[in-house]
Order: sequence, then structure tokens, then C-alpha cells
Amino acid sequence: MIVGIPSEVKSDEYRIAMLPVGVEELVRRGHQVIVQAGAGLGSGLADHDYLRAGAELVAGGSDVFERADLIIKVKEPQPSEFDLIRSGQLLFTYFHFAASRELTDAMVDSGSSCLAYETLRDAKGRLPLLTPMSEVAGRMSIQQGAKYLEKPQMGRGILLGGIPGVAPAHITVLGGGVVGANAARIAAGFQADVVILDVDLDRLRYLDDVMPANVNTLFSDRYNVLEQLERADLVIGSVLIPGAKAPQLVLAEDLSRMKPGSVIIDIAVDQGGCIETSRPTTHSDPTFVVDEVVHYCVANMPGAVGRTSTFGLCNATLPWVLRLADSGLRAAIDSSRPLRASLNIHQGKVTNKAVAGAFDLPF
Ligand code: NAD
Repeated sequence: MIVGIPSEVKSDEYRIAMLPVGVEELVRRGHQVIVQAGAGLGSGLADHDYLRAGAELVAGGSDVFERADLIIKVKEPQPSEFDLIRSGQLLFTYFHFAASRELTDAMVDSGSSCLAYETLRDAKGRLPLLTPMSEVAGRMSIQQGAKYLEKPQMGRGILLGGIPGVAPAHITVLGGGVVGANAARIAAGFQADVVILDVDLDRLRYLDDVMPANVNTLFSDRYNVLEQLERADLVIGSVLIPGAKAPQLVLAEDLSRMKPGSVIIDIAVDQGGCIETSRPTTHSDPTFVVDEVVHYCVANMPGAVGRTSTFGLCNATLPWVLRLADSGLRAAIDSSRPLRASLNIHQGKVTNKAVAGAFDLPF
């Protein structure tokens, strides 16, 4: 099969969909790999690394789309790429179709087969191609929180770990899943005082078991959330109800309970946000202030740490890429439930119930 890796064209996106080691493995199995020149630079991967691994370098993204049977990307195709995608082509990337009718219509019209990272579900019901990016966002939220708590960034002027004789910051983590647990672990490493809230008691038991002593757990109800808002210097929003809009745990009127200069990092903003006053922001303009509370709501946090994110993503995607390339689409989805679950659109038809339901399309 001819496998193509174009440069990402979405703004503030520095990842690439395949490492040189992935190219080497594909080539060793008899596939041909075409990489757009410069595609790895945002992640610190040079063209000669890809050449050495056996890739053919081409100058333009259109050359990659024209020749490849299977396109591996990071972000959903952008409007400038829609016309490059052709009938019968396989695309494996993050799509998040339910968030865009325009993208869904474009891919249906293209006649291609679209396999979405975000719906690939393993035998244990987990979403292994989302997990590494949640790990990145959770860990990164604490370094962003530390920065925006500094006075020149409009924060309270608080050092996360305090110093001997001065109390550390209090950090409240709303939602103790992958993002929340990673945020809490890094916050604990900074010696902050951390509380994780969740509605899943089994999850709270697990977190209580594995977290360091400066992380405590609380059941997530309205009373506890409000009490935490009064104490918190930094609030991390990391709740998820799969497939649904995030529940709003903090209402606009609740902000007046928070201390001036405290910071909210609403990571769940990609699902609508769990703070009523959130709205998506970008890496170039990441924050805004409401009622003296700094809000950071960047919807693609992993993009900023492109190198770490590229390695994390590619570690998780490569086994599935190899399977698709080796078997072809039909045999791959017949033999692999996870890959079948990732197929969202196939030759003009929506094959994912939630996507069809989002736009009243036939399924
Ligand atoms: P997850 O499913 O692992 O964890 C979500 C947790 O929220 C679960 O433990 C669940 O029990 C809990 N929860 C549900 N309702 C709750 C409530 N009312 N109160 C408290 N907890 C509640 O999900 P995840 O991988 O941690 O992802 C969390 C969010 O972060 C998702 O919306 C995901 O899309 C988003 N995310 C954003 C970025 C970004 O760049 N902004 C990057 C990665 C992930």
C-alpha cells in the first residue's frame, strides 16, 4: 500500500502523524511511504530522519493526497484539503465529526473511508488513541496554571508549592479520569494541596489508593463544588460524559465565590466546557478574565508541546496503522472490532450512529 503523511495545516498544530520508526516498519513490510517535506519540523523531526527511514519526500501536500492509498494525519481535514481527498482513499486521523456538519458533508461527498482515532474502542471499552492526548493535556494544565497564577499574567501571585512557612496553592480538579489524574499527579509533585472531585465512587477509591498524600478525593456534588471554589487558587475542569456535552459544574454566578486572580483551566472546553463562562481560546490568545477569574480554555492543548504529543500519539496509533496497511480496509475491519468502531464514514455513507444522529443523516 502507498501510505501518505501530509503536513498538518490547522493553525497552531505542530504534530506529525508518524515517526521515522513507523516509516521504517511500514517500509520493512513492503509498503511505500510518502512524507511531505518539512512535515516533522514542528516536532523536531528533520526531513533526513524520514529519508533515512525509507520515506519518499514530496514538496506539496497535494502530491501526498494524489498518490497515497492511506492518508495518516493528526487533525481533521481542513477546508483547503477537502478537494484533495478522493473516492476510495482511506483516512486515519482525529475527525470529531459530530462537531462539524461541513466536515461530515465533505467527507461523505468525497467517497473516501474515514477511520477516526477518537472512536477506536479497545476490548476493555477504552479509547486508546485519545488517552495519550488526555495525559498530555492533564499534565500540561498544571504548568499553564502555575504560569497564569503569576501576577504579571493577571493571577493571584501564588507559587504552587508555597515555601516553608507559607501555604501551597489549593488546586481543585473537577473529574478524576485520565486528564484529572494526570493533572493531580503533577500538581502533587509541585507540592500543592490537591482535591479531586468525581461522581464515580470506584474511581475515587482507586485514586485514593494510588495518589500521593497531598491529594484528597471528594464526591462531586453541588455543595462540595461550591465549597471548593471558595478555597481554590487553581481549578482544573476535566469532566467527561462520553458522547455528551460536558455538564456545567460551575455557573457564571459561582465565580463571585472565587478569590480574585484565581485561575480556571477548562480542559473539557472541547466538549462544550464544564464552566459556564468558558469559551474556546487558542495558543496565541489563550486566556480571558471574567469576574477577576482568569480563564484558560485552549481546545487543542497538546498542539503546543508538539514533540511530546507526536511521540505519544504515534506510539498509540502505529499498531493500528500497520494493521490497516497490511490487511487493507475490508479485512482489517472484519478482523478487528476496534478498527470497525473507528470507521465513521465509508464510501459516501455515515457508519457511526452518533455522527448520523448528530445531523439526522441516514445510518
Ligand atoms: P475520562 O472519561 O477519562 O474522565 C472523565 C471523568 O469525569 C470520569 O472519571 C467521570 O466519572 C467524571 N465525571 C463525569 N461527570 C462528572 C461530574 N458531574 N463531576 C465530576 N466528575 C464527573 O475523560 P478524559 O480523557 O479525562 O477527558 C476529559 C476531558 O478533557 C474531555 O472532554 C476530553 O475531550 C478533554 N480533553 C481536552 C483536551 C484539550 O486540549 N483541551 C485534550 C485532551 C482531552
